[in-house]
Amino acid sequence: MANFGKLFIVPTPIGNLEDITLRAIRTLNEVDLIAAEDTRHSQKLMQHFDISTRLISLHDHNEAQRATQLIEKLQQGLNIALISDAGTPLISDPGYGFVNQCRANSVDVIPLPGACAAVTALSGAGLATDRFRFEGFLPVKQQAKTQVLESIERETATCVFYESPRRIADTVQAVVDVLGAERKVVVAKELSKTFETFYSGTAGEALEWLHADSNHQRGEFVLMIAGHKSDVNDIPEEALKLLKLLMAELPPKKAAAIVAQQYGLKKNTLYQIGLEFGS
Ligand code: SAM
Repeated sequence: MANFGKLFIVPTPIGNLEDITLRAIRTLNEVDLIAAEDTRHSQKLMQHFDISTRLISLHDHNEAQRATQLIEKLQQGLNIALISDAGTPLISDPGYGFVNQCRANSVDVIPLPGACAAVTALSGAGLATDRFRFEGFLPVKQQAKTQVLESIERETATCVFYESPRRIADTVQAVVDVLGAERKVVVAKELSKTFETFYSGTAGEALEWLHADSNHQRGEFVLMIAGHKSDVNDIPEEALKLLKLLMAELPPKKAAAIVAQQYGLKKNTLYQIGLEFGS
């Protein structure tokens, strides 16, 4: 709508204050209002970057009512930025209902690219990134947590979770219990901060590492679980040999398709196994 204001979704740093974009700073300066998850927390960021735009709270407990008020302001022509305490708003953070309402009311939503713990962790973990499944926080209750982990048992994509320092050891214990001690995981902690650490190993080893030093359980965590590996034992030896040969010459998809046709096997399974040859 011509006279409507716009809603800007603005990522903020997840630790290192240098991880804010020039566009984010300009946008936060130019908008009429900044909707923040915690205004007191965000005030420090505003002071650091000398931004004097007015802050208004929008969090899980007032989002529905606040969204209605803010949409009225947007319809009056005000521009608004949405920020969360850290990282990209809406990613395990408030804002979904608000953005949904903006779109339903023909208000333009402009998301800015920027910091996000899940993507930062994935990009440095050394696990497959061609496909990943973001699950946010696991449920706190043991039974529900177990159910979610059971549901990813045969997931071939890398699974990404957020976790708190209070629960990281229990959660890795649950991974050992449900997915087995041999499942490969990467624990990324304190990304972009002084004590940034990536621990990579089996779930059993990660559990030992977490218990080896109480400092290992401090900070903010992203837990990544390697995807389920296809069972090579189900594939005839000759098919595996041919796949290996073809993988040296052809793109993985093409190699998988040829072997699948030749042996009447599933293309996707062969593709996954082909990728595992290289990992
Ligand atoms: N919206 C944020 C984002 O874009 O990443 C995530 C918000 S969520 C409420 C907070 C969780 O993200 C933390 O509990 C932790 O699991 C993860 N996280 C945030 N900052 C992190 C960091 N610097 N290092 C590791 N994990 C982080």
